[in-house]
Amino acid sequence: MISRRRMLKLLTTLPFVGGLIGASSIQSSAQVVTTSSYRDFFKEFGLRTFINATGTHTYLTGSLMPQEVMDAINLTSNQYVDLNELQDKIGAHLANLLKCEAAMVSAGAASALTLGTAACITGKDRQKIIDIPNLPGPQREVIVQKRHRFGYDHAVRNAGIKFVEVETRKELENAINANTVMMLFFNYANNQGQIQDEEFVALGKKHGIPTFNDCAADVPPVEHLWKYTKMGFDLVTISGGKGLRGPQSTGLLLGRKDLIEAARLNAPPNSNAIGRGMKVNKEEIFGLMVAVERYLKLNHKKERENLEERVQLISKMASQVPGVETEIVIQHIGNHYPQVRVNWDTNLVKLTHQELIERLRNGHPSIETATKSWLGEGVFVCMSMARPGQERTVAQRLHQILQNAAV
Ligand SMILES: *Cc1c(COP(=O)(O)O)cnc(C)c1O
Repeated sequence: MISRRRMLKLLTTLPFVGGLIGASSIQSSAQVVTTSSYRDFFKEFGLRTFINATGTHTYLTGSLMPQEVMDAINLTSNQYVDLNELQDKIGAHLANLLKCEAAMVSAGAASALTLGTAACITGKDRQKIIDIPNLPGPQREVIVQKRHRFGYDHAVRNAGIKFVEVETRKELENAINANTVMMLFFNYANNQGQIQDEEFVALGKKHGIPTFNDCAADVPPVEHLWKYTKMGFDLVTISGGKGLRGPQSTGLLLGRKDLIEAARLNAPPNSNAIGRGMKVNKEEIFGLMVAVERYLKLNHKKERENLEERVQLISKMASQVPGVETEIVIQHIGNHYPQVRVNWDTNLVKLTHQELIERLRNGHPSIETATKSWLGEGVFVCMSMARPGQERTVAQRLHQILQNAAV
């Protein structure tokens, strides 16, 4: 046990705890904070930590939550609320902020894909909610453009559907039948399929089939938070833990009121439901809400300029090494951040791409970078998820490794 005096002393270093909550709750918060401030959990378990110089990746634990988000998580952790009432109220607030009819917090965009698909199949029918993914009768169908099949569509299949792939508008219209429950769109692939977003929405409306757009990684830009629901997609999902920097275990499911209500019925706290394993608790719901509020207030132009300056520094230092060429690239949609592509003449710099990645990873501090073949040849460095100032370390280390390998 720590003494009360020591505890109070520790509390004075915490801006939010002392002033905002009552004396009885101070004790438990203080214990949590004091414990964690004395333990280096990563060291204790021998876990490598690193500078994230590549972007939001689930396998690298995504993004770091800003202080406001952590404050919301801490401040909501010591009371009980009714989970349905919470989703009702926070959902309405988010829908208002994001200019759509209805919203819910899911356990990530992948969870939103399952819940949204489930909603399109079951509506509010209790028996169907219990029976999916194995409904009696013919298997339900989701229409998708061939070029829009992607690694996350398993989350849609989880609801028990089968995909019907189409390419042309004519094929799409011919594919619609009594078993069609939804039309899936992968926002990133908008320019790859023959049918683009607005036409896709129009076709859904013409045939009375709900359309669902997966925009998980497509914020920034901020306008994407409402662009696609306004365009007429019946459902849209955006990850909570990517550009928004909310909890990794959250996502937004936005769209039509009746479908969000049906998605809620397929989700916790309901137990006999497909989404029961996709629980989001109150701290995470509030955490995402605050992440959204914070994101909406950011000066997005400044954020972008700041990111550009940081990658410029890295680009300039790397390109000083003879034989190295760099370029600032921005993915058109999805992970829409400036990043540096670093490539070199292997006659002048004796190093493979993979060797550079490994040397950055194995040094101190460890730095994570990656190749991104869809954006071009080389090693990519992106500061969107790094902490301020880390660009200097990355720039120096990158320069040094390239320089040491130069002939
Ligand atoms: C990241 C991603 C997902 C999954 O999002 P989570 O929030 O991690 O569940 C789904 N679809 C696409 C296109 C993504 O990029």
